[in-house]
Amino acid sequence: MPPPTPETARTNSAQPRCVLCRVCGFPNLLSPPAPGGGYRCEQCNELLSNPFTARGRLRLWAQTHWLATWGLMAAVVALGWCGYAWHGLARIHQARQHARQALQDARAARENRLEAARQAHDARMTQLRQEAEQHLSEEAAAARSRWTHAGILSGNAARARHEAEWDRRVRHDPALAVTPLERMLVEVERVGRDPALAARDALLRVIERVAPPGSTNNLVPVQGKFVVELAFKMSALSPLERGARTRHTSVAALKRETVLMCAHVMRELFDTCGWRGIKKLQISCNHATQHRPARALPGVPPPAPVIDWQVLYRCSLSEDVAVRIPSWRLLPLHKVEQLMTVELDGFAHLTLTPVAPAETPPRDPAGPLRF
Ligand SMILES: [Zn+2]
Repeated sequence: MPPPTPETARTNSAQPRCVLCRVCGFPNLLSPPAPGGGYRCEQCNELLSNPFTARGRLRLWAQTHWLATWGLMAAVVALGWCGYAWHGLARIHQARQHARQALQDARAARENRLEAARQAHDARMTQLRQEAEQHLSEEAAAARSRWTHAGILSGNAARARHEAEWDRRVRHDPALAVTPLERMLVEVERVGRDPALAARDALLRVIERVAPPGSTNNLVPVQGKFVVELAFKMSALSPLERGARTRHTSVAALKRETVLMCAHVMRELFDTCGWRGIKKLQISCNHATQHRPARALPGVPPPAPVIDWQVLYRCSLSEDVAVRIPSWRLLPLHKVEQLMTVELDGFAHLTLTPVAPAETPPRDPAGPLRF
């Protein structure tokens, strides 16, 4: 008898069914109920699935209809792939829509900004053009009025302006004071009404401002003017000349620097004060010197050396000479030196002695400067 085919086995669920062994391929004819250990292959004793349960029926159907099974699986996979592709395309389309909308918005915003800037620029240009035209018309009107102004053409306006400025100068208007001395004069005159006192105070203040630090001055009134005596210390302008020490190795070099220093101070004072109010300017350059002690008597210890101020150089310049100089600022120092009158040359009695370097920095004597 031929083995039953799977088609005949699935005609009735209660009838025996044919199950192919998946190991040896032997068709086993099975009938319910299943034995205790389950269905086994008659040829290789491999455990078979129960064809009478739902899972077994499905497996049996898949075994007999493998083409339909594979087709169904392929259809499911194709359907899933198509759904996935459709979903991706929809996302891409949506992103494109968003990008296109954002681009349109950005373009519109940029156009709005450009339009606003263009309008502001046009408004500003119009305003500037109007202001320029108004300024030009005012200038032209002012020029036309000057051409036809009777006061300008006749010179009366210039005369009135000159008289007004002269009146301000006579009243010592502070706005017209230019030099430091003029400003000082006006300021002191405002404080005290005595003209002689004002001139003296102003001169004093200017001298104190211009003279080297630590200087001493003395004003002697002569014929309505002043003889200015100024004593300054050389170390105020050259720090290596402090105390009874000098950086120079010869008297000639020391004298050269001293003379140029006096000329410099003279030029600064005249440049600031002018020659007005000064009858004569006298400058004394002080340097600390060590005085040789007197010869000691035999048996008596020599006295200690004394360090005191000494005038190395004194020069002067009178009003008659100063009035001929138009600009002190531009005058070279050697020209100033030629104008000065030498009143005292202390270098004749000066000798330089080599000494060892001092452990402590040399100090100037505390006594007053000498004129
Ligand atoms: Zn088998």
